[in-house]
Amino acid sequence: MAGRVCVVTGANRGIGLEVAARLARAGDTVLLTARDPAKAERAARGLAGRVEPRRLDVSDDESVAEFARGVREAHGRVDVLVNNAAIHYDTWQRASGADLGVVREALETNLLGAWRVTQALLPLLRAGRHGRVVNVSSEAGSLASMGAGTPAYAVSKAGLNALTRMLAAELRRDRVLVNAVCPGWVATDMGGPGGRPVAEGAASVLWAVDLPDDGPTGGFFRDGRPLPW
Ligand code: NDP
Repeated sequence: MAGRVCVVTGANRGIGLEVAARLARAGDTVLLTARDPAKAERAARGLAGRVEPRRLDVSDDESVAEFARGVREAHGRVDVLVNNAAIHYDTWQRASGADLGVVREALETNLLGAWRVTQALLPLLRAGRHGRVVNVSSEAGSLASMGAGTPAYAVSKAGLNALTRMLAAELRRDRVLVNAVCPGWVATDMGGPGGRPVAEGAASVLWAVDLPDDGPTGGFFRDGRPLPW
């Protein structure tokens, strides 16, 4: 499925970088975005294929609007959006005593960031050939397995899962598939040592990117298998 215009947020390291690398290797055009433009440039230089480094801070309205403007001018469409950027895997907190400043920051990036970027790119996704929105979520956001730990992160991902359902319902008529995906526990800066290789986490995400036009929408998956909400 080469030749798509793909946007990956938080793509300067970790799972996002690996997803960007694999899309570029497969022949897609990748807008490798990072909140720090120097990091985007550096990451893009290390990749083969059509990779365009761009500044995109998902927590900043102006940055998102400027990015969307640039994509519209350069490409006029988006085929794939991977909402990958996230912060605050707050294993040190419990819900009862959580620092609400940390919770607010997590919501701003992990939930509202994905929401904001999707809204800004929607006209371009509608103009695309076969729109795919992949919200990189986590089983930590599953209400079925939720405890009191990682409250900022878990609530932000539960919200992202809810957003996934709503957008999927709304965008069905535009033939844009919207799914939430858990990459599993992955050995990145966020996941720490001991998790599975980044390539496996990225593969879980890419499964939802590469869904056929009659594939599922509004689902929550890991490695192509449904997870409980
Ligand atoms: P990393 O911490 O390695 O990378 C996070 C990326 O998000 C970085 O590129 C970071 O940029 C970027 N980012 C943070 N805030 C913003 C922002 N405001 N705007 C743009 N980019 C931003 O995380 P992972 O690669 O491990 O995680 C990727 C996704 O996978 C996340 O959504 C995470 O929740 C999810 N996930 C990860 C798991 C794991 O075990 N690793 C498990 C389950 C889900 P910068 O370098 O500037 O900080």
